[in-house]
Amino acid sequence: RIEFMMRDAGLALVLTQQGFAERLGGGVGDGPLEGPGPRYMYVDAFEPATPVAVSSPASSAALSFAPSFAPSFAPTSAGDLAYMLYTSGSTGRPKGVMIEHGAVVNFLRSMHVEPGINAHDRLVSVTTMSFDIFGLELWGPLTAGGTVVLASRATAVDGGALSALLDQEQATILQATPATWRVLLESGWPGRPGLKMLCGGEALPRDLAARLLATGGELWNMYGPTETTIWSTLSRIRDAGEPITIGRPIAETAIVVLEPHGTPAPPGVAGELCIGGAGVARGYHARPDLTAEKFVVLSFGRSSPQRFYRTGDLARLRGDGRLEFIGRRDHQVKVRGFRIELGEV
Ligand code: AMP
Repeated sequence: RIEFMMRDAGLALVLTQQGFAERLGGGVGDGPLEGPGPRYMYVDAFEPATPVAVSSPASSAALSFAPSFAPSFAPTSAGDLAYMLYTSGSTGRPKGVMIEHGAVVNFLRSMHVEPGINAHDRLVSVTTMSFDIFGLELWGPLTAGGTVVLASRATAVDGGALSALLDQEQATILQATPATWRVLLESGWPGRPGLKMLCGGEALPRDLAARLLATGGELWNMYGPTETTIWSTLSRIRDAGEPITIGRPIAETAIVVLEPHGTPAPPGVAGELCIGGAGVARGYHARPDLTAEKFVVLSFGRSSPQRFYRTGDLARLRGDGRLEFIGRRDHQVKVRGFRIELGEV
């Protein structure tokens, strides 16, 4: 899978550790490498005050960092690519979602307002960087003048250690999937008063919402697919006795619930959740077929045509304007927040 993604993305440079690179060195796969193939930079070979070693596993020649990889800061515009992130593909081939700078900036500015991130915040980051929601954990606080504390992988999966870290670092925000929130609660975590708890990646169960609210923190249900930049709707959950909704769209985001024949569903009626606006991805890298299938131009009434991403999620719009997540229309599943197409397995 990793070799496929490396080939598909046409990488110039791979940042990794020596032990991992040895496992990738063979480069065997189902197609030829495009271009000259990537170079490798080993973070564990880095020693402060010495040049960073950059080398390819295929050759033992180490290059010094400066000549070939000196960063050049070309002016960036909103339509430039910020990142590409692979999600599980139903035909077994992961697909690279292309997200532009403008989408990320819009997302971050919206998050600064709601759920609210500011210069006094200290966010403890527990999410792997291969999951797009890590983008909130890293850039959310940094672009607001706040602080990010990176939890180690060992701490992120150990409720007791994570609980201690939250106190030690005086955390004000923690974002996690329902699975990680449960791990924390199971360790006997008493909660942190005032902690902003962001939960997303899969449906927030009512019992978990009740337990989290009982800790005295502020609870938010975050919803969104990788294809529309991290989160697209959110909801402050105040009472676990009320319906748990995914709330309303974030800034510059349009939502429509479509019935099977392509017309907007009236409030209360279930349909496919489609997302338009500033967060919509450029498409899937080198997959025009799939891009055309999932990213569609829709127009309703007098509004001008707009690009929407068809999420494959079933939802219904409530009378109060909040969205209720119902489930999937296909066989995609979530395992501890990871999105998996059963076809890929
Ligand atoms: P990913 O692209 O990995 O972020 O996965 C996106 C999918 O996760 C969505 O299309 C939903 O099926 C599911 N999902 C994410 N957040 C939520 C949430 N708060 N409630 C219900 N489902 C969610």
